[in-house]
Order: sequence, then C-alpha cells, then structure tokens
Amino acid sequence: MYCLYNDPAIVLQWLLGQVDGNLAYIDIDVHRGDGVYTLFESEPRVVIADLHEHPRTLFPHSPSAPGPVSAPGPEALRGVGPARGSKLNVPLPPRTDDDAYLERWEEAEAFIRRAAPRFVVLVSGVDGLQGDPLSHQCLSPRVIGEVTRRVRAIADESAEGRLLVLGGGGYDLDNVAAGWSAVVEALVS
Ligand SMILES: [Zn+2]
Repeated sequence: MYCLYNDPAIVLQWLLGQVDGNLAYIDIDVHRGDGVYTLFESEPRVVIADLHEHPRTLFPHSPSAPGPVSAPGPEALRGVGPARGSKLNVPLPPRTDDDAYLERWEEAEAFIRRAAPRFVVLVSGVDGLQGDPLSHQCLSPRVIGEVTRRVRAIADESAEGRLLVLGGGGYDLDNVAAGWSAVVEALVS
C-alpha cells in the first residue's frame, strides 16, 4: 500500500539488473506491502519478509469492527511459480507489543538469512508504534531500533553491508521523531 509512487518497487526492479543473487525486501510498515508483493510475486530473486497488522483489523477495519476473515489470509501468500516460497507475510493481531513482535521477527530474520541476500532493502515504517492514529499496535521505538540493527547485521554478513533503508508510514509526529531516531542510531552506532 503506497501513495502515488511505489518507489521501493522501482528500486528493486533496478537492483535486479545490477546485483547478482537474491535481493531482500524487508517491510516493517504496519500496512502490508501488497503493491511490492504483487509486482514481484513470481520473481524468485526478490525475497520478501513483511510484518504488518492483519488487514482484518486495519483500515478500513478496526479491532471493534473487524473485517471478514479472508481465506486464505496474507500468510498464505508465499509467491507463485518459480518464486513459490520466496515471500513471507507475517500478519499480526492488534495490540502486539515489543516482545511478541520480536518473537515473530525471529522467523522473518531466519527466512531472510537463509536467502543470503546480496542487497538488502528495509522499509522502516513507524506506524506500528503505540499511539499511531491509524493502527492498533503497541510497539516502542526500541523494537524499531532492534530490527534495524538485525537487518544491518544481515547486510554485513551476506551483502558486504549493502543496505538501503527507506521511510514508511507514521502518523503521529512524536512517534516519527522517536522511531526514525532509533533507525538512525542503529545505522550509525
Ligand atoms: Zn503504513
């Protein structure tokens, strides 16, 4: 879900022609990156790990008025054809806190690490922070910093440090300041 331009997809398409091997696309914005998924669902070299609030409770739905359970849910979207198994969607329930998030993150990290990406793209949306007016998550900036550090480590291990961090959503200004400060701190420390 993006505004006018799907800039992550543009950069991934360009990178496919520049880099041999797999590209990792890690999306921690609270909305599912359905646009990137759809564009690359049959491209095995774009390995996606996407953690997001389940669309059942995110706009236009809410925890008090959840949408219908879609079958299959986002977790069933694993890529198609030769790309089957190269995408991981992790839908989270409302009010997920740091500990629960980091538990689910372990799965995403192992998934990305197995792909030994040669370039890593991280979309560091901070709209999962507690108090964001659009979502219903209870994350703190600590989890944003921790995930960024882990992603940086993956880039150091298999991609010679090649890491591009893009912004994402965030609709509470204090949260944006705290979340992005955590990202920058994790990148420069
Ligand atoms: Zn978002």
